[in-house]
Amino acid sequence: MGFTRCPCCALSPLPPLSTVDADLVSAGLLLVDTHNHLHQSAGGGAVRRCDSYEAVLAVAEACWDSVLARCAEGPRSLPGLGVHPWQAHEVAEGWEARLRALLQQHPRALVGEIGLCKCARSLRGPGAKARVWPQQLRVFRTQLALAAELQRPTSVHCVKAHSSLVAALDDLDVLPPAVGLHSFSGSAHQIGQLLSTRAGPRLYFGFSHTVNVAMGGAAEPQPALLDAIRAVPERKLLVESDCADERSATLALPLALRLVADARGWTLERAARTTTENGLRFLRGDDGDDRDAGGAERPVCVACEPTAGSDESARPRLLVVSQCSR
Ligand SMILES: [Zn+2]
Ligand SMILES: [Zn+2]
Repeated sequence: MGFTRCPCCALSPLPPLSTVDADLVSAGLLLVDTHNHLHQSAGGGAVRRCDSYEAVLAVAEACWDSVLARCAEGPRSLPGLGVHPWQAHEVAEGWEARLRALLQQHPRALVGEIGLCKCARSLRGPGAKARVWPQQLRVFRTQLALAAELQRPTSVHCVKAHSSLVAALDDLDVLPPAVGLHSFSGSAHQIGQLLSTRAGPRLYFGFSHTVNVAMGGAAEPQPALLDAIRAVPERKLLVESDCADERSATLALPLALRLVADARGWTLERAARTTTENGLRFLRGDDGDDRDAGGAERPVCVACEPTAGSDESARPRLLVVSQCSR
């Protein structure tokens, strides 16, 4: 299954932040959709926004190949491989070894979509919670540990389970380099609490119109959501479509940008620029606090492949292409 070499990883250069051209951003031509499921799009592999980056997240082992196939076609699409909390009770024997092998084959892949969801349908019904929740926790913790060991960014779904998320992160000796809490549904207060934990500096908070506004049936964002968006440090804000079809995603990403811009009192251009830079940093597995002394942004080599390793010091250090010795 899969590819002999990694087309998605080989062909997905992320530009250094200095080349995130202000004009492109302000024209809406370079955006980062940090969480979608467009491998499920009926349109096949067509990439809809040629100058945008995206992370395409699997939800179960059955779609790992289609995620990789989509990302092989679009040079700016990064694959996410993992098992979603709603599917955690269905994993097949040996899934963990197969996930590890595939992640090692694809050094640019994220771990995701993974997570914890107290609202999962699998938890409903007599006796289901006692049986399924421990399994959901096990599957999540296994994948979180894999993201830490392989030093990959991870896209995490967490609904009404923030204390279990913090406990899982606290139990790791080494943290994943960047943890994106996608379509974040917690409060501003919870954001403050999460940021004050040991993993706080590694956390990003993603917002979508799809889940954060439209799913609740509201025409307008709730005040608590706007408060939450305002509580996120500027360098930790992400936008996402969380859509599974091209047409919806094309509409949903600008709506997510508008949501962030309105909550923060920013122009759309500022929201686009900020979330694009943050999105690229997140996809590279850079925690966003990672600045050289003096505050300069550390430049990035898009040609260097990250090396796997559990040692924090072995985490890929990226350099400017022109200065790269490899
Ligand atoms: Zn999700
Ligand atoms: Zn999702």
